[in-house]
Amino acid sequence: MCVGGGPGALYFAIAAKRRDAGLDITVIERDPPGTTYGWGVGHGDDLLDHLYRNDPGSAEAVRAASALWQDQEVRRGEETVYLGRYGYSIARASLLDILARRAAELGVDVQHRRKVDDLAEFAEADLIVACDGASSRVRQLHGDHFGTRLEVGRNPYIWLGTDKVFPRFTFAFEPTPADRRAGPRSARMWVDG
Ligand SMILES: Cc1cc2nc3c(=O)[nH]c(=O)nc-3n(C[C@H](O)[C@H](O)[C@H](O)COP(=O)(O)OP(=O)(O)OC[C@H]3O[C@@H](n4cnc5c(N)ncnc54)[C@H](O)[C@@H]3O)c2cc1C
Repeated sequence: MCVGGGPGALYFAIAAKRRDAGLDITVIERDPPGTTYGWGVGHGDDLLDHLYRNDPGSAEAVRAASALWQDQEVRRGEETVYLGRYGYSIARASLLDILARRAAELGVDVQHRRKVDDLAEFAEADLIVACDGASSRVRQLHGDHFGTRLEVGRNPYIWLGTDKVFPRFTFAFEPTPADRRAGPRSARMWVDG
């Protein structure tokens, strides 16, 4: 069973079912379907190649739901550098929806609105996969066993959204007061095209 129902859990379940359809896999997600943190996921041909090799159907769906962007723009103050690259972006909600549907189609039991606080109730499971994200409860419960080491960085961080459509994949570096405190670092704005 998988704790957490993000892209990691759902894709693990799909890949495992594709290899052994007889496996009994449950994915447990605390949030309702359609809930997501963040908006977009950028990816490239290399990822699509991996997805196609694993599961062509869901790879097709991911490609179809992705927007193609061309060229990158890196701005810092008055300077702008243009880089010729292309890639894809997909709304995280669409990605989760595609993966959850595919997992269910393969027979994975995807359960929403169920928060895992303790692993005791899964004592019968042969394997528990911790897919519960950066603040993993499973890792907290078994930090000693995993040898987890956590370091809190100094960089302030904020994730903003806008309706503006950018013509290129844009990295916009803006000097901020945090820059002066933290030395040569700068705030980074990363805009999915
Ligand atoms: C600002 C930002 C931008 C990013 N952009 C990109 C990008 O462009 N491309 C890219 O490939 N990656 C990107 N990433 C990284 C990407 O978001 C993560 O690598 C990815 O989401 C990890 O997937 P996951 O399934 O392991 O964890 P998560 O996506 O964090 O999913 C964990 C899931 O577990 C659930 N959960 C947590 N605790 C419990 C519990 N106790 N019980 C039940 N459920 C629980 C959560 O609700 C969540 O749904 C970005 C990350 C950030 C922060």
